[in-house]
Amino acid sequence: MKLRRKFFSVSLTTWCVFALNGCQAAPGGDGAEVVPGWRWSWEQVLETVNQVRAGRSLQPPSWPNGARVAVLLSFDVDNETISLRFGEPSIGALSQGQYGARVGLGRVVSLLDRHEIPASFFIPAVSLKLNPEMADVIKRAGRHEFAVHGWIHEMNTSLGAEEERELLVRAIAYLEEVIGERPVGYRAPSWNFSPNTLDILLELDFLYDSSLMADDRPYEILADGQATGMVELPVEWILDDAVYVNPRGASYSPPRDVLQVFIDEFDKAYEEGTMFLLTMHPHYIGHRSRMVILEELIDYIRAKGDVWFATHREVAEYVKQQAVMMP
Ligand SMILES: [Zn+2]
Repeated sequence: MKLRRKFFSVSLTTWCVFALNGCQAAPGGDGAEVVPGWRWSWEQVLETVNQVRAGRSLQPPSWPNGARVAVLLSFDVDNETISLRFGEPSIGALSQGQYGARVGLGRVVSLLDRHEIPASFFIPAVSLKLNPEMADVIKRAGRHEFAVHGWIHEMNTSLGAEEERELLVRAIAYLEEVIGERPVGYRAPSWNFSPNTLDILLELDFLYDSSLMADDRPYEILADGQATGMVELPVEWILDDAVYVNPRGASYSPPRDVLQVFIDEFDKAYEEGTMFLLTMHPHYIGHRSRMVILEELIDYIRAKGDVWFATHREVAEYVKQQAVMMP
């Protein structure tokens, strides 16, 4: 079932019609007007919040083989696209991105394959086109998933619906050509989910999204209060290497401190019997001192036992089947 949400085509300017005290010019000067939330009617608040919202939990009564917790490791293989996407790349930043393909990815995949653990690789199409040898590295074990992460790590909220859709169609086609099957999973670049993203994902028949943050457990996405059948496998900045490991960033944390955050998150997921989903990037986690995080985390999780290591696709298929969702 495809849902069309009328609200999604409404521009910010339209809000001025509802505003109690007129409009204020947007600082961007692009003609759109921004009305602060304190001047919105209750209907506007509800309509906005309900555009895309968490619906019923898809936490299954049990995980396969009686596992206590599902562990989903994902790697966003952004590499050079982070530097390229805004059109002002620098040579230095591009080289930092290339490290992901040249060094980081191999380290990550070797570790996973040594433990025979599956993972999901969300790859911007341009990243794969620049480094096509990555496909073989990921394919070798035959247990990892390829999933969509935009064309060039574009910022969806900067795009019109048509351009966002066109880039996604192009990205799917390229991935399909390289991996030999159509990917079923999507993660918005920078988790930047636009008002049009859900409609596009439904139209293009994705099985799941992994960009939103309303729960620790899988859930069904609602659009304007209606069930959509789209599985959400939620993410969080807490569970993302990128925010911690930039040595020049404001939130830099030493690798062993990051490991402890991930272990604490895992322990609670284990206690709850829910899900532990971790987002990493080969060009960050693939550096020597950060690989320690992943190595020790996997050892810790394996020592605990009763764990279902699965791709995002496997988990999405399982929870959807358990919940008997509409197609
Ligand atoms: Zn990314």
